[in-house]
Amino acid sequence: MAGDHVNANVLGSYDNTAGSNNPFNSTPLEELIAALFGSGIGATGTHGGMSLGSGSGSLLLPGILDFLGTVPDNYTPSGAYLNWMLLDGEQFKLVTDNGNSGFEQLQEGGGDCTPAAVLQINSGDGIDIAKNGYLYIFVSNTSTDYPVYFDQLHVEHVRGPLVEETHYYPFGLTMSGISSKVATNAPENKYKYNGKEEQSNEFSDGSGLEWLDYGSRMYDNQIGRWHVIDPKTEKYYSSSPYIYCVNDPIIFIDPDGEQYLLFYTDNDGKSQSRILKGWDDIEALKGIESQNDFIKNMYQIFLYSKGEKDAEAGLTGDDLIMIDYKKDSDGKYDTKSNTILIDPLVGTEMVNDGQLKKHPLDFEGNGKVQSPATTFLHEVSHAVEYHRDSDAYESKTGGSKPNKTYDFEEEKRVITKVETPFAKKKGEGTRTNHGGVPIYTEGPTSHKKVSITDKHKNRIEFRKRTSNPTKN
Ligand SMILES: [Zn+2]
Repeated sequence: MAGDHVNANVLGSYDNTAGSNNPFNSTPLEELIAALFGSGIGATGTHGGMSLGSGSGSLLLPGILDFLGTVPDNYTPSGAYLNWMLLDGEQFKLVTDNGNSGFEQLQEGGGDCTPAAVLQINSGDGIDIAKNGYLYIFVSNTSTDYPVYFDQLHVEHVRGPLVEETHYYPFGLTMSGISSKVATNAPENKYKYNGKEEQSNEFSDGSGLEWLDYGSRMYDNQIGRWHVIDPKTEKYYSSSPYIYCVNDPIIFIDPDGEQYLLFYTDNDGKSQSRILKGWDDIEALKGIESQNDFIKNMYQIFLYSKGEKDAEAGLTGDDLIMIDYKKDSDGKYDTKSNTILIDPLVGTEMVNDGQLKKHPLDFEGNGKVQSPATTFLHEVSHAVEYHRDSDAYESKTGGSKPNKTYDFEEEKRVITKVETPFAKKKGEGTRTNHGGVPIYTEGPTSHKKVSITDKHKNRIEFRKRTSNPTKN
């Protein structure tokens, strides 16, 4: 089972008084492989013409034979080995990552057989099993002249914390062919896809509805539909109230609600997301903050605004607010995608009211600075307000800018009622209008300016180059 740890060692010695040379001969290994596969798969002479050795006619063995071709022969005259090979459970393919398959050659203990040497898997480190499958541990002797002696082959198997590995079709049905379970009598795990409880075998005759319990509704992953309508259906009138995740389970998940959904890229460059539905989940970000600067910085931002009404509402409320990284963004809440786009190193330098008659790219900052964390709280407040009453929100933000200094009533509300009191409490700069210059700060919760953002600088340059100073 993936996640298990296996170690093995054996005592070995050889007698080099019996012969004179050591022609390296891998035939015994190949024969062993054929024996391991028995009459079933890939063995010589089975029907269909699969054969061992040439590789070309065998479905499974070329990789294994190539691997056996890499057996090192560094310590003549001994041609004796401790071998381990992990074959995955789906296709019997050799798993070579992280020393999951390998050889250890007998290098001491020669001559008259004393002393015996210890051969160990990966020099004693053992193997962290990377994939479910079958692990073969065996000893071999490829020399034809020297007798080799092995004794006390010792295999140690430590079970990992994983009890099963399950793969899903996007709508949630299990791909049973590539899912596997540890072979124990452990109680059945019913919390699988999205961690929702599977309702199976609930009737006395052993049958069941096979639905997943999402709290407010039961989901049927066999058809990708709910059987009752979405309780918030009036908010999403453009799509059917019975479909799961707007019919796009690759992009969306339905975590039962609500709260923050944080997107990030992990160390392997893979896109990941994480649901935050309380302070425990935010604390748990500490476990993965080394993977990603965005996570590390957002963690500080969340903590900075802990206790603020809108920050709490966004985290524990009734709706899902997505948070995504956007380089050099000074914060934006997009109602269409319900996403806060933020660069957690970008804050705002305030501008005096007199600047407002200028083009925003000509704004000069007045030295008062707000941290990226305060920018985040500003956007969260928009998101919370939108979810509170989306129609009212649209009417407070739509059309041409009706307010001279704050552009929109909604901005006036956020700046005067949420942003400014928070900034004062934290000793940050405050503003009397909706203007500002996006700047890098010394950190996610710092209100010390470093410089204006690269993007803003580029836009200013572009504007200078394209505007014609001889006209106007
Ligand atoms: Zn705003």
